[in-house]
Amino acid sequence: SAAIKIGIVGYGNLGRGVVSAIGQNPDMELVGVFTRREPASFGSEGGLTFLHVSDLEGYKDRIDVLILCGGSATDLPEQGPFFSKSFNTVDSFDTHAKIPEYFEQVNDSALTAGKVAVISTGWDPGLFSINRLMAESILSEGTDYTFWGKGVSQGHSDAIRRVQGVKGGVQYTVPVNEVIDQIRQGQTPELSTRQKHLRQCFVVAQEGADQEQIRQEIVSMPNYFSDYDTTVTFISEEELRRDHSQMPHGGFVIRSGVTGTNTRQIIEYSLKLESNPEFTASVLVAYARAAYRLNKEGASGAKTVFDIAPGYLSPKSAAQLRKELL
Ligand code: NAP
Repeated sequence: SAAIKIGIVGYGNLGRGVVSAIGQNPDMELVGVFTRREPASFGSEGGLTFLHVSDLEGYKDRIDVLILCGGSATDLPEQGPFFSKSFNTVDSFDTHAKIPEYFEQVNDSALTAGKVAVISTGWDPGLFSINRLMAESILSEGTDYTFWGKGVSQGHSDAIRRVQGVKGGVQYTVPVNEVIDQIRQGQTPELSTRQKHLRQCFVVAQEGADQEQIRQEIVSMPNYFSDYDTTVTFISEEELRRDHSQMPHGGFVIRSGVTGTNTRQIIEYSLKLESNPEFTASVLVAYARAAYRLNKEGASGAKTVFDIAPGYLSPKSAAQLRKELL
């Protein structure tokens, strides 16, 4: 068929989201889910085909784009440079400080192979990055703000679970609404870390554990909590499962600038997501379409959201887009 053939590497939250997003895009077709675990252990979950990552060798001519759904900490630094040697790829690498280095490695592989590798897409990095760039280019005199949340931070939730006496827990990053309102009204405050976000922790303690000691250890944890106003609420295992098993997220990118003689101009972009991984996966799938088309046109190398014109994301033709959306 003429559909774009997609392979998924890694079956976690994001991998499951990509399966579902492909189902919403008739111009895409899922060839298989490739995992480092034993494929047979998944049975035929969701009617999907599970294969081992080592089988990808035989799929070079049967897959148009591989969507890499591994974690940014240790999976993608290996998988990105490796798979872009043989496939067009898309990933959501989100360790901001390491993006320049990661770009160079993936670019080397993709250029040599004549493939396109879209790196670091999603919402941040991704859609938020595009909005920061547009706002800064348009309002050259101004102040930028990015707020995240309310949403679950995986890294901070993991940090809570490592505290002694903790059985389970989840952490929400919460933007300070009063400050956002000030900015929307045209003020441009200089904000400390503490003034921008709060951290709310919901914790299940092990039986007999000292709750006050757990609370102290969490709120004073350097890098994660000590620079924030942090609340710790103890809940039951049942409540954790019932009320905190979703992965909502979102946030705001705002630029407050001036043109002319003190004419205030404010640009705001916001996301409110019930599921961070399902949304991120939908962004990855749109960029897979772009990677496929760019490569068809002869492009190669690593690309970020800054390098890809928006029309490439849409299944509609350029003429249709001019007529319907311009
Ligand atoms: P995850 O669920 O932890 O999955 C990561 C990998 O771990 C999977 O690809 C899978 O690989 C393996 N895995 C998953 N569940 C497992 C299990 N039960 N046992 C053993 N291995 C398991 O991570 P995620 O939530 O999908 O997120 C992936 C990355 O997306 C994050 O690290 C983050 O950097 C990025 N992200 C980016 C944005 C953005 O806006 N740019 C937004 C959200 C997330 P195998 O199948 O090969 O074992």
